[in-house]
Amino acid sequence: MTDKVAAAQKHAEKARKKNEKLIRKLRKNRWWLSFVMYIFICILATVLLAVAAVWMITYTVEDKIQNEYQNVVRMGRIYDEKSAVSDTEAFQALRYEERPFYVLDAAGQTKCSYGRNTSIEESGYFMISTYQIGEDFDEEYHEEDDEAYDEDISVQFDDSGNEDVEEPDDYADDKLVEYEDKSIVVYLDSDNEYIRQNEKGEFSVDIAKLFGFNFSLKDGVNVNIETGEAKVVPFWIQTDVRDGKLVAKSSIVIEARDTLIVLVVVVIYVIVILVGFVIAIINFIGNFKNHSRVNKLLFTDMTTNSHNWMWFLYQGNALMRKWRNADKNYAVMDFDFVKFRNFCMAHSVQEGERVLCTVDDVICSHLDKKELCSHNSSAHYAVLMKYDSDENLNNRINSILRELEHIDDKHVFAYHVGVDKLNARYDEEGKPVKRRDIDLEKAYNNACAASATLADNDDTAIAFFDEKLVEEQRWLDIVQENQQKALDNEEFVVYYQPKYDPRTNELKGAEALIRWQSPEYGFVTPGRIIPIFEKNGFITEIDHYMISHVARDQKAWLDKGFKCVPISVNVSRAHFVESDLAEQIRDMVDAEGAPRNLVEIELTESAFFDDKKALITTIKKMKEYGFAVSMDDFGAGYSSLNSLKDMPLDVLKLDADFFRGETDGDRGEIVVAEAIRLAQKLNMHTVAEGVEVKEQVDFLAEQGCDMIQGYYYAKPIPKEEYEARMQVS
Ligand code: C2E
Ligand code: CA
Ligand code: CA
Repeated sequence: MTDKVAAAQKHAEKARKKNEKLIRKLRKNRWWLSFVMYIFICILATVLLAVAAVWMITYTVEDKIQNEYQNVVRMGRIYDEKSAVSDTEAFQALRYEERPFYVLDAAGQTKCSYGRNTSIEESGYFMISTYQIGEDFDEEYHEEDDEAYDEDISVQFDDSGNEDVEEPDDYADDKLVEYEDKSIVVYLDSDNEYIRQNEKGEFSVDIAKLFGFNFSLKDGVNVNIETGEAKVVPFWIQTDVRDGKLVAKSSIVIEARDTLIVLVVVVIYVIVILVGFVIAIINFIGNFKNHSRVNKLLFTDMTTNSHNWMWFLYQGNALMRKWRNADKNYAVMDFDFVKFRNFCMAHSVQEGERVLCTVDDVICSHLDKKELCSHNSSAHYAVLMKYDSDENLNNRINSILRELEHIDDKHVFAYHVGVDKLNARYDEEGKPVKRRDIDLEKAYNNACAASATLADNDDTAIAFFDEKLVEEQRWLDIVQENQQKALDNEEFVVYYQPKYDPRTNELKGAEALIRWQSPEYGFVTPGRIIPIFEKNGFITEIDHYMISHVARDQKAWLDKGFKCVPISVNVSRAHFVESDLAEQIRDMVDAEGAPRNLVEIELTESAFFDDKKALITTIKKMKEYGFAVSMDDFGAGYSSLNSLKDMPLDVLKLDADFFRGETDGDRGEIVVAEAIRLAQKLNMHTVAEGVEVKEQVDFLAEQGCDMIQGYYYAKPIPKEEYEARMQVS
């Protein structure tokens, strides 16, 4: 294998794999994915919305708590200012604030109180940004009254659960800013139903309760904001004062308008989700339809509108992999509509395509559920059929063919069927083996190779693929690959089969016959190579080679003083299309220096079917140049009496068929005798080929046959042996 071929094969394999992958991808196109994505995005959006809502509400609540906190701090400041004068005055001043409070001394004893104490004295904390606290303090107190602020304002942080935080020993203003993210100490009010404390002591706002959100599994989320009704959330805030603590009741009021933003967001969300849902549904349906269309296109044949080759491979391979099909015999077949192109030419391409559709329908109608048929290329159909026995398979194919031949009243169509059988395989225990390794493409190729052997036949026929065909194909490859090299290396050798005069037993001539002496493949007879060369056109090279070698040998023998006789060379019909054939032969013989009358040209009977006029011209020219021309294989195949009429030939070679086998002796002899007589009347010499027995020789001598070329005298022999038979003149 050359590098180029190997590279091309690699490329083809790569392309095949790529296509398979593409098909798999197209088949698996996840049209439902957009829907899943939509659901996922909905969930994500819902979570984000919930987080945003909680954050917005928390922010609102915290903001209000901040204000309350600052009020309490202000009370602490008032208390500190006034208590410097007198405690009574301080308590008095605090009462004006009109909110319940109590002051504890350093020992934790209540120094005074106002209003009902409903605090639950278990401190907790809100995570409220003290950055805001600090800022507000700076503006409101610190800048106006530095001293008072320094002394009086104290914020007590609760560091429970926040071990890193040190209790500040100096409540200086600038420290406040530093202690960000600390908690305000808050005591819950016993009336408080909106703020809850969990086991860890953390507080959280019960949003649902606060805003009147009702949630039930049955109804989903139902936002029900009770407009106008403000919710009061009471709690207690503590601040340090001189020699103790001031704890004052605070409350925040949540109004309906606080929830408006949440409502807007929720409405927008619902709209977006609904629009998204509609888009997702449209997209989903579109994708689904597209996927079906792609699948259909991928597996539909454009001509027959039925299944195509891709579908055949896909379904066939799937079928072969199934356990339940393992013990069945399958046949992969190629149905070829013979001379489809001719039919299209005589009618029309449309008419031809209509017939192709009918053929597809007919084949499919003969198949079972698990059997496949697809239109392949041009007029070929791939078929996968189950069968029990060879007889059953033959009957089924024949019944399809019988119907196919008469699909049209006006015509009788012909088909070539190639069959590759994929029989069930069994393991040692007798269990059927799954045929994973089956390569349907290869099997179909085998079927095509089998049907290609019927190419010369115009009638309906069936051919089975077998190992002989593989061998033939291999041999064909070997010959084609080696032909030029063999020619260059002179591996083709010329054998000579002598022709004798039956009356005198004198050597009168010889025929040059080729042999291939291959160093790799041994001695190869012409029957194994000539038909190949005739098909691939290499025969013209061979003809040249033989003519040159014969002329060269004749010249050498003449020079050696042998008495040379004419040697005939076979010239293939393929060669006769060349208008200057006579000149080519003349020049080749002249180039070797051999006399032209020592080289004779043999034409096979089949050559006479070609362009008669051109043939006559060439023959005439050859004769003019001094070459004798003989008609080979006279009497084989079709009668060539008519050719004899027009062709000015010199020699008539009676085909070996006349002398072979058990024919009716008398009748055969009459025909041969008359043929010789005919030749004589036409001024032609006669040569009888394939003569093996003495009686035939005697008979031919009696009838006046000029020469005998047959095993009776000699087989084709190598040059040296032939030389030994020649006489020195
Ligand atoms: P052909 O030209 O008809 O050659 C005669 C064939 O009959 C030879 O087979 C020869 O060996 C065989 N033959 C001769 N006498 C007898 C006999 O008494 N009994 C039997 N059984 N056979 C006999 P070969 O050499 O195998 O050649 C076969 C064919 O191959 C030739 O048939 C010819 O058509 C073709 N061929 C051979 N050499 C050449 C060549 O150099 N050029 C071309 N174009 N064709 C060639
Ligand atoms: Ca011949
Ligand atoms: Ca012959």
